[in-house]
Amino acid sequence: MADFYQLLGVSRSADADTLKRAYRKLARQYHPDINKDPGAEEKFKEIGRAYEVLADPDTRARYDQFGEAGLGGAAGMPDMGDMGGFADLFETFFNGFGGQGPQSSRTQRRGPQQGDDLRYDLNIEFKQAIFGEQREIKIPHLETCLTCKGVGAKPGTGPTNCSTCGGSGQVRRATRTPFGNFTQVAECPSCAGVGQIISDPCLTCGGNGVKQVRKKLRINIPPGVDTGTKLRVSGEGNAGPKGGPSGDLYVFIKVRKDSKLRRDGINIYSEISISYLQAILGDTVAIDTVDGKFELKIPGGTQPNSTLTLDNKGVPRLGNPVARGNQEVLIKVKLPTRINEEERNLLEKLASHYSTHNQTTNSGLFSKFFGKDS
Ligand SMILES: [Zn+2]
Ligand SMILES: [Zn+2]
Repeated sequence: MADFYQLLGVSRSADADTLKRAYRKLARQYHPDINKDPGAEEKFKEIGRAYEVLADPDTRARYDQFGEAGLGGAAGMPDMGDMGGFADLFETFFNGFGGQGPQSSRTQRRGPQQGDDLRYDLNIEFKQAIFGEQREIKIPHLETCLTCKGVGAKPGTGPTNCSTCGGSGQVRRATRTPFGNFTQVAECPSCAGVGQIISDPCLTCGGNGVKQVRKKLRINIPPGVDTGTKLRVSGEGNAGPKGGPSGDLYVFIKVRKDSKLRRDGINIYSEISISYLQAILGDTVAIDTVDGKFELKIPGGTQPNSTLTLDNKGVPRLGNPVARGNQEVLIKVKLPTRINEEERNLLEKLASHYSTHNQTTNSGLFSKFFGKDS
């Protein structure tokens, strides 16, 4: 990666005005509409990126201290904390609808000013968050006007060089003072420093170069997302004015609850009720898992409120779906509140059997000391 100061041809102590001038000069030189050399567009993008970083005092300070690594992805990118290091990975999950993906719109003219990032809130079902799904969403955003390709001029016409400044974007004002004549350089008031003027605006976009569109997007939601996960869809924010690059779209995920299964991170929690006989003797019971019904084997002697763990029946780890969490099944044991005559007889028989064979229990001790059985 080239040094941003070197790219713009300025010293590390350059002030904001020097940076701006250097950037404008180079941007005009390498603008893909003007410069048809191979590599010009790439250079134009690099210059734009360098200026984007250095023009903002915060990102410039970080760049000065840590270099490109201090910028953490695109400048001005929101915090991706809960997504760990996978933010960039998700960009590749998304593609446009009807053949026109984000890449094709990105190869159009790029100007210095980037469009806004957008937020879209998406509710998804419990199981779809676990295994991922493809969703079609409609987002309103600004797109580069196709009629004028973002230039803002009526087709057939084009921006003309500003007559006030002759295309340089700057005007010089001579000031006469008692100490002599001074020349002051200022931004051209006619073209706001762009150097070009649109005299015949595009009718589709009114000269803005952008228009409001509802776009259909098909997004792939990766397995393992949770409430609070943000997915970045690169280049689907608002298009920048005057053919500037688009911002990004951030899809904020919210996951609906399930009536039987509860989720915490990559683990699933559920509970079942079994009878005291099933707890004592063991049994096999059909339970709900995210993979569907599962025959859970309950071992004999299972204690009330104990937990059985089902390995790999949890949620796939976001970004690494091969790794899955577990399902923890809490066992509730029901005791009958009333029993019939036959059951009472059987239980009493069991109780007397128990007391003669187990001398360590209270009932056993009772009979030992008071001689009930003798
Ligand atoms: Zn237009
Ligand atoms: Zn001008």
